[in-house]
Amino acid sequence: MPNRIIKESINESKGLSECGFFAQDIFKRLITYADDYGRFNADVQIIRARLFPRELDIVSESDIDDALIELSGVGKIAFYTSKARNEIYGCFPNWGEHQRVRDSKAKCPEPDNTEVNDWYFRRFVPIAMKVDIITRDNFKCQECGKFLTSCTDAKKFAKLGSGLYHIDHIVPCNQGGRATMENLRLTCPTCNLTRKRFFTADEIAQFSGTCTYSPQVSASRRKSLPESNPNPESKSNPKYIGEKSTKKLKRFIPPTLEEIRSYCRERKNNVDPQRFFDYFDTSGWIDSEGKPVRSWKQKIITWENRSNGKIMGKTNATSGGSSYDMSELEAIINKGVT
Ligand SMILES: [Zn+2]
Repeated sequence: MPNRIIKESINESKGLSECGFFAQDIFKRLITYADDYGRFNADVQIIRARLFPRELDIVSESDIDDALIELSGVGKIAFYTSKARNEIYGCFPNWGEHQRVRDSKAKCPEPDNTEVNDWYFRRFVPIAMKVDIITRDNFKCQECGKFLTSCTDAKKFAKLGSGLYHIDHIVPCNQGGRATMENLRLTCPTCNLTRKRFFTADEIAQFSGTCTYSPQVSASRRKSLPESNPNPESKSNPKYIGEKSTKKLKRFIPPTLEEIRSYCRERKNNVDPQRFFDYFDTSGWIDSEGKPVRSWKQKIITWENRSNGKIMGKTNATSGGSSYDMSELEAIINKGVT
């Protein structure tokens, strides 16, 4: 692996300054771990072994998971799946701006699908919100009542204490729980051991759209996901909004008929591209619920699922499940790595 460039400006990064110190540390280590195209295998077991070989006794997989969620929440890294291999990959969206993209062969496959970002995005709790939760819960685990620190500065604890506290979703994310003040609480890591830490092969297959079986499992999983903005509090309260990259991802560019055709061909679905285009073009890309379309690909998947009878009524998560534009994200990912 070649040596990497870390510029002085990294210390002025607003996005990184909104992460805990552990996430900032992982970010720098990930730069050395990524391949020449800024991509890396996002399996937390592998990241932990490769990035912290001498600290395995104190760095847990859930610490890594938390850091990846933080970094993706502020737009520093993004995730994707690839039909080539059943794994989840991460990448640096701005890799090309900072590192020399070499001619050598990429070690990680090309991005095919970025739906997996929703998984991370739903779990993202901005640092300012963490500070508010720590303050509200008075530095105490809400499960066992133990004080988590003798530190009395919530911001300092939030940033330095990664791994010493967890922000727990009372209603879990995979059951529709959202990152709101009401649904989050402070716990010690021991009391929060039951939470999920890795993806099963089946789940990865579902993210990447290569799953060809268990439609019922898939449908019920989708049913349990939130329908719209997973993080309404952060949306309604600008105080919690991260940095510009989050806003950048929200811009929507309507697709051309040809793009819709090609995407439908790629997914081998029976959605009529012309009908789809006309429907949204005449409405000015506003959906049936009167909300602006954020991801036309998600809409196609919704149409596809409806026509397959997999999803009934309003139970699907894909109609606006992401609060950013996926095609835009794909463009950003590809920009940095090609
Ligand atoms: Zn506890």
